[in-house]
Amino acid sequence: MMIKQKSIFRILLKIARKRDIIVKYINLPDCVDGLWLKRKELEFIMLDLDKLTDLEKRNFVFAHELGHSTLHKDKVSNVMYWKNNSNNNYKKSLEDEANNFAKNLIGELTSKCY
Ligand SMILES: [Zn+2]
Repeated sequence: MMIKQKSIFRILLKIARKRDIIVKYINLPDCVDGLWLKRKELEFIMLDLDKLTDLEKRNFVFAHELGHSTLHKDKVSNVMYWKNNSNNNYKKSLEDEANNFAKNLIGELTSKCY
């Protein structure tokens, strides 16, 4: 299980690299595990590995941020992954879309990785 989660993480890194997304491991504010950020042509995904000690959770947050990059690139400049759902409907719909993207991507990778 551990090995599987690690290989899924490596594949997610490859996907990010292919899309020229810079992945950084930094400490984020209390309520944030991960963050997708767009600055001019540059795209970043920040992951707080201290908070994401559970590898399955870590992969999900990573895939979620990739979802924002894939689906919301032209809509917003940055979206935070909040532990608590925001009560803003628009933001919630973006979060739901990114969660669905992550669910599908992780599902696909899980079926391929041993
Ligand atoms: Zn999000």
